Amino acid sequence: MIVLEGVSKVHGAGADAPQTVALADVSLAIGRGEFVCLCGPSGCGKSTLLNVIGCVTRPTAGRYRVDGRDVSDFAEDQLAVLRRDAFGFVFQRANLLDDASALDNVEIPAIYRGVGRRARRRRALELLGSLGVGDKAQHLGSDLSGGERQRVGICRALMNGGQVILADEPTAALDAAQADEALAQLAALAAQGHAVIVASHDARVAQAAARRVELRDGRVAADSGAAPQATATSPTIAPAGEVWPAGATVAKYEPMAMASAALRSGLQAIRRAPLRSALTGLGVAAGVWSVTSMLGVAAGAYGEATAVVGRLGAEMITMVPQWDWEGEKLAPLMQFTRDDAAAIASLPNVRAAIVGNGRGEATMQRGDRQAEVSLSGWSGGTPPHWLQKAYELAEGRHLAVADDLGEAAVAVLSAPVRERMFAPDEDPVGETVAIAGRPFTVVGAYAPHTIYNTRLYRDERRFVDNSVWLPASILESWPTPDPAIGIDVRVREPALAERTAADVQDLLDRRHGAGKATVQADVVVLRHYDEMVRNRVGVLGALGFVGLVAGGLGIVAAMLASVAQRRREIALRMAVGARHRDIARQFLAESMTVGFVGALVGAGLGFATGAAVETDTVPVAFPPWVVTSAIGIAIAVSVSCGIVPARRAAAVDAAEELAD
Ligand code: ADP
Ligand code: MG
Repeated sequence: MIVLEGVSKVHGAGADAPQTVALADVSLAIGRGEFVCLCGPSGCGKSTLLNVIGCVTRPTAGRYRVDGRDVSDFAEDQLAVLRRDAFGFVFQRANLLDDASALDNVEIPAIYRGVGRRARRRRALELLGSLGVGDKAQHLGSDLSGGERQRVGICRALMNGGQVILADEPTAALDAAQADEALAQLAALAAQGHAVIVASHDARVAQAAARRVELRDGRVAADSGAAPQATATSPTIAPAGEVWPAGATVAKYEPMAMASAALRSGLQAIRRAPLRSALTGLGVAAGVWSVTSMLGVAAGAYGEATAVVGRLGAEMITMVPQWDWEGEKLAPLMQFTRDDAAAIASLPNVRAAIVGNGRGEATMQRGDRQAEVSLSGWSGGTPPHWLQKAYELAEGRHLAVADDLGEAAVAVLSAPVRERMFAPDEDPVGETVAIAGRPFTVVGAYAPHTIYNTRLYRDERRFVDNSVWLPASILESWPTPDPAIGIDVRVREPALAERTAADVQDLLDRRHGAGKATVQADVVVLRHYDEMVRNRVGVLGALGFVGLVAGGLGIVAAMLASVAQRRREIALRMAVGARHRDIARQFLAESMTVGFVGALVGAGLGFATGAAVETDTVPVAFPPWVVTSAIGIAIAVSVSCGIVPARRAAAVDAAEELAD
């Protein structure tokens, strides 16, 4: 089943290193059921020949056929599949993963074959049992004795069938009794039909083997020849496809199975090297920490802005007169009238046009109390809709239609004005106050305004709502330096607010002359505000991202160090059938898991920081998008940072690493 024709292997070919001819023109045929010992002194090429046979290393020249197939031109992945399914390696000291259990070690070749967990476990336990180490299944590789390690190594070699068992110096680390036992097991395997090929300079092995191939300086010096009856009578060993019935092998790319396998191998790696993983994860954690807290602060500001926008409403259209110098002082170029209001009310998409919002500053007095107030007028012709929406009545009543028609000297106070003019236990309704010397009866007072109640306005030194509402008819004849009256317009369809604002502008231009008044849909202002806050989110997020990238570079460094440290483990996995992409995937999974755990920790720290720095003036919020984007970015960074180390890992030369 194994045929080598004129195989040579020259080490260091092409490189500046001195060339060593390890194998020269070796021709050899080995069949099923043979127990062959490659013997000869140290350095004669035994290991090299074994590695060539096991497809761990490629010959420099010559032909090599396995079961009639010429594997000389096989691609790397094809060779990996061959190693995985047909060959079973038993190394000196068995080369187990020390920090994995015996069971886990035995399962590895089946994992790379894609065999389901349950089927894998069953066969591994069966094999361990049949070699008398069933009770050691859960022991770590490092806790096993030399003989036990060797048996576990044999189990691993048999996991996928192991038609050809290759053992390099299997007895080197064993005492005489253990060595005899190991040889007996190998002989038994040959009797079952496996081709068993052992490289050893141990005379006992040469004795135990049915056939001796002696090497000298890379050449076959002597070959005792195949024992003919062994091949003839041996039963054939089930190929991997029969060891694993179709049902046991999971579909090639089952995403969930792959993800969970990746996560498991990642967690395993973390468990094996907790300190290294913690340091690696720390970088990512720090990055996500900064992203999360920065985004939290940004989102807090955004949330508050949105809240303010929501309360103001997107359906308002605001208009103000243009102002210009009139001699020494500024004066409005026009004044809105009730006729303007009526004309605007007849435009499409306009829900209500109310004369009002006329502004005037005045002093309010009551006994020895006094306050500077800002006057607003309301026609009351339609209920002052937004006023009712934004201001909640605390005492008394709103202004009414009759107040406007009758030019009644009545007033409604904002909460801060009420607070200044009346004691908390006094009832202001019905009381008289003087505004600019004229007496007014208070008919109502509003609760604190919801907008002014937000954090943005809570600092009363910055903004005090000193509004007082009077009937618009009173304000129209008000002798104040600021007689301008506005018109408040609400649109039916906020999406069309800008068009409607343009219509209103046209109408006012026609009635008063171009450029005398400025009309604006509030939604435009809101949109501008919204954009500003969005930009802030972007800038803060970008700053956090810089931290995250720094954390990602930490992953690259730590994973590269890890690859350097684990070259032997990688080589071992390759020898039992891992393809390059399996190795790359494993390392990617590790950096991804470390990144994911780091991201979770960082997000937690970010929330804690957010809670700690949150004050009245610095709102913090963590909407789901903050969390998901922080973790999503962290994983993207970990994956992209895992690529370089993964490639490095996949490029490990198995033969070189496994050489003793
Ligand atoms: P054995 O297993 O019989 O002791 P090897 O097959 O390990 O012999 O080595 C055969 C020859 O090839 C030796 O001279 C050894 O120094 C050389 N050799 C083995 N591996 C390498 C390598 N990776 N690079 C260069 N020379 C090597
Ligand atoms: Mg050797």
